[in-house]
Amino acid sequence: MGLTQIKTRMHTALEQAGRAPDAAQLIAVSKMQPDARVRAVLDEGHRVFGENKVQEAAGKWPGFREEFDNVTVHLIGPLQSNKARQAMELFDAIHSIDRPKIAQTIARLAQELGHCPDLFVQVNTGAEPQKAGILPQDADAFITDCRRLDLPLQGVMCIPPVDEEPSLHFALLRKIAQRNGLTGLSMGMSDDFERALALGATHIRVGSAIFGART
Ligand SMILES: *Cc1c(COP(=O)(O)O)cnc(C)c1O
Repeated sequence: MGLTQIKTRMHTALEQAGRAPDAAQLIAVSKMQPDARVRAVLDEGHRVFGENKVQEAAGKWPGFREEFDNVTVHLIGPLQSNKARQAMELFDAIHSIDRPKIAQTIARLAQELGHCPDLFVQVNTGAEPQKAGILPQDADAFITDCRRLDLPLQGVMCIPPVDEEPSLHFALLRKIAQRNGLTGLSMGMSDDFERALALGATHIRVGSAIFGART
């Protein structure tokens, strides 16, 4: 596939949905990709990346940031409280806020550090027991709690169950965002980003379709 093709497909999907060409951001998910592939995408001019592990990102992005200007990196994987400080120093956005404890920890660290990444509440739209995310029925109350903590909430994020039609989950996520007055919708991956864009995604997270299969 590659970056150029994905961007073309992205713009076509936005156009077909009657949305502006810049209505969504492409997050290139570089987790478990060899540095050479990441560098190639940086050389092509792309600057927005996603990682799912704090440790892996810490080994990779400080170096690339020294070489390339204006890089932004999003944490799209689960976050433990004991890694929160490091995550807040490394990432421009965190998509996996999903429980009171991590919200409280981040609020406290934001006070201390004087800055906070953009935050997304992860919703477990399929209510899968093994998956991270707040349950859909608890999302409104949790979003209210995050606002009381003054957290800079940008939107909501979901990872649909693998064996279900993702559009149902994207539509549910959009409904949760709308009724809570949130504009950010982090949804859509390599296999379903066009459907996510049709349903209003503002941040799509695409890995293997850009970089190739993970090593
Ligand atoms: C790995 C990952 C992606 C990208 O998946 P692809 O299928 O490679 O596009 C997107 N979102 C999250 C949360 C991920 O962990």
